[in-house]
Amino acid sequence: MNIANVIVDVPAASINQTFDYRVPDKFKDIATIGMRVIVPFGPRKVMGFIVGATENSSYNSLKSIIDVLDLHPVLTKELLDLGKWLANQTVSLQITALQVMLPQVLKATYKKEIVLNTEALLSKELEALFAGRDSIAYEEFTASTLKYGVLSKAVKDGDVSIEYLVKSRITKKFRTMLKPAKQLHELEEQLLDLPKNAKKQRQLVNHFLENPNPIEKQKLLKKVQTTANTVNILKEKGLIESYQTELFRNPYENHLFSQTTDLPLTDQQAAAIKPMKEAIAENEHHVFLLHGITGSGKTEIYLQVIQDVIHKGKEAIVLVPEISLTPQMVKRFKGRFGSNVAVMHSGLSAGEKYDEWRRIQRKEVQVVVGARSAIFAPFEQIGVIIIDEEHETSYKQEDQPRYHARDVAIYRGETHQCPVILGSATPTLESYARAMKGVYKLATLDKRTNNKMLPPVEIVDMRDELHAGNRTMFSRKLKEEIQQCIQKGEQIVLLLNRRGYSTFVMCRDCGHVNECPHCDIALTYHKKSSQLKCHYCSYEEKVPVHCPECGSDTIRYFGTGTQRVEEALTQLIPEARVIRMDVDTTRRKGAHEKLLNQFANKEADILLGTQMIAKGLDFENVTLVGVLTADSMLHLPDFRSSEKTFQILTQVSGRAGRHELTGKVIVQTYTPDHYSIELASKYDFMTFYKQEMQMRRTFQYPPYYFLALITISHPNQVKVVQTTQRFVQMLNKLVKDETIILGPTPSAIPRIKDRYRYQCMIKYRNEPELRGYLAKILDQFSADIRKEDILITIDMQPYHLM
Ligand code: ADP
Ligand code: ZN
Ligand code: ZN
Repeated sequence: MNIANVIVDVPAASINQTFDYRVPDKFKDIATIGMRVIVPFGPRKVMGFIVGATENSSYNSLKSIIDVLDLHPVLTKELLDLGKWLANQTVSLQITALQVMLPQVLKATYKKEIVLNTEALLSKELEALFAGRDSIAYEEFTASTLKYGVLSKAVKDGDVSIEYLVKSRITKKFRTMLKPAKQLHELEEQLLDLPKNAKKQRQLVNHFLENPNPIEKQKLLKKVQTTANTVNILKEKGLIESYQTELFRNPYENHLFSQTTDLPLTDQQAAAIKPMKEAIAENEHHVFLLHGITGSGKTEIYLQVIQDVIHKGKEAIVLVPEISLTPQMVKRFKGRFGSNVAVMHSGLSAGEKYDEWRRIQRKEVQVVVGARSAIFAPFEQIGVIIIDEEHETSYKQEDQPRYHARDVAIYRGETHQCPVILGSATPTLESYARAMKGVYKLATLDKRTNNKMLPPVEIVDMRDELHAGNRTMFSRKLKEEIQQCIQKGEQIVLLLNRRGYSTFVMCRDCGHVNECPHCDIALTYHKKSSQLKCHYCSYEEKVPVHCPECGSDTIRYFGTGTQRVEEALTQLIPEARVIRMDVDTTRRKGAHEKLLNQFANKEADILLGTQMIAKGLDFENVTLVGVLTADSMLHLPDFRSSEKTFQILTQVSGRAGRHELTGKVIVQTYTPDHYSIELASKYDFMTFYKQEMQMRRTFQYPPYYFLALITISHPNQVKVVQTTQRFVQMLNKLVKDETIILGPTPSAIPRIKDRYRYQCMIKYRNEPELRGYLAKILDQFSADIRKEDILITIDMQPYHLM
């Protein structure tokens, strides 16, 4: 390659283009499309991607590439094309679109080293460079006179590999291992010399006599019921020795997954899977919408479809929402396909994620199960893409590039000519409408595989409770059912249906609410530290004793945080053992899994939590599901609030009575007549769909209209209003007459981190050039963006309207 076309990492709208760089001789043989490079840009050195190559350039004074960061392309040709499309679709920079496809480790310039693999046969020159060492810093290679070709050949032959040193605390976890320091017969002799009363020391030595394999120190201490001191004594006596091993390089290494095989399908499953298997056999791209109630066997269909794909020698991408990437879910895929599966989710450290990604890149696996970003898995022969719980909003990225994984899936599905399967018990209106129009192929499963009925749902009107003098957040009915359930030794899932599951403080006298001085939003009360914190910036203050407005001392906290519900619950039913699951209790790595395990082991009667408990959990002993405030989401300023309410009520109801025991659901609400609550209680998706579609048509929302949301922010309010007005005026001149532009209006949260926020909403039906218009307008604002600290975000098909 003589001249490389490079996309550079420079954040400005006007430079969404490639730049030409000369490839110096030493990189000529190795520089390849899809590799990352360091190039000069003005006075700076920046990262970039080689996206093309040419022999001649029309510019005559070209600068040269400074460094090539990869020996093997990190992006395939397909992903480079995808990046271009993605940037276009989301009106963002190509560099951002390319970076979002890569694991964290490859985004920053991490320190690299070259590691010798076992049984490597090195060339003389490399042998000399390693000089007997197992690994060397990458810089040693670049400083040497060796050609890059020598190294890339050694990498290809599997003699060395390039490793990234991830400087994050999490990946550097080690555990201490113990093993015998002597031959077993020597150990046996020394055992006799140990003092008679040194019982624990004897037990420890005996353990190794029975089982001389290395064992984790903590495990052994637990087994023998002793302290580190015993180990130290034995170490001093020279009987055992300790060493460190790295922890969790393979996050699932220690899990044993019992092998499962295909189940004979039910008639409904068989009918649903048939056209999918045909599409795979014929290499045809179709989008299937698999609408199946909870427990109807959707996952079994995914597994058998993937089996076909593996047989063809192709690859499968499975997306599941972050919060349902529970060990239960992973187990089902690992159980069927074993080590042929890579798993990607945010619980992994940067190093672990990179390792899983590399297994995909090296074609060591044929299946990836992961959250949103797994849609960019660098497979080259995709045979199927599956999106489970397709209605989940976490598939939309709320940051640049604001893409929806479903759109990317369909785009890749077209490229690879393979089917895309969207599965859900409560599909989005957008997807279901497409299925009704025949754009997607619909498959329906309306029976559970065990033919169990869905649990009956009872609605409790909380206004009646209030009239009857019950001021707690638990209806008499729910209380009674919980107690009965506990008596029978069965378990309960309680859902607090709230997005802003926070508490705030308010003065009872004057109604004053403490707000963040930098963001126009109520501060959240943290009981443990007795602090008020802002969840949008890091501001915090002590809870005031007196109201800053009127001086009264009647400051109380309000809202129903999970913590508060937990307190009320244990007051009301003292015998209940409660596990609380919310953002606070699951922040630490592994905490989520631990709490669920405790609940599965019946160490608690009640699992209390927010949305995160509504999905994917399958506990056979759960017979009661309670929803505390079904309507709390209905009043959010969001046209999807009915749909979201319907979805979550349906999801959480599916948690009860999945196995032998029959289940029951109790839904508490102040608006029992609302159609989303009423229809969810009857599991009536069709009627809900029809009714909601009418609302959407009347109020001109998706799927009848497309949306685009422009948000503009700046520290000066006047400046924001003016800029937003200018934006709207420019846009108005370009779009069609029937396209609706609402705004400028203040955003639902009008100020965050001292920046005022205004927005405009575009509603359109047919505006093929809209993305181009927006990019053009952005370009005209680029000077303001750079000089005046104006921030403009464009969100095509937004989910968060705040
Ligand atoms: P969904 O994903 O629709 O909630 P699952 O695939 O989890 O449903 O299936 C629910 C339960 O039924 C699981 O325990 C699964 O093992 C079982 N199952 C699925 N398909 C069959 C089948 N054909 N025969 C027997 N059991 C099945
Ligand atoms: Zn007051
Ligand atoms: Zn704030």
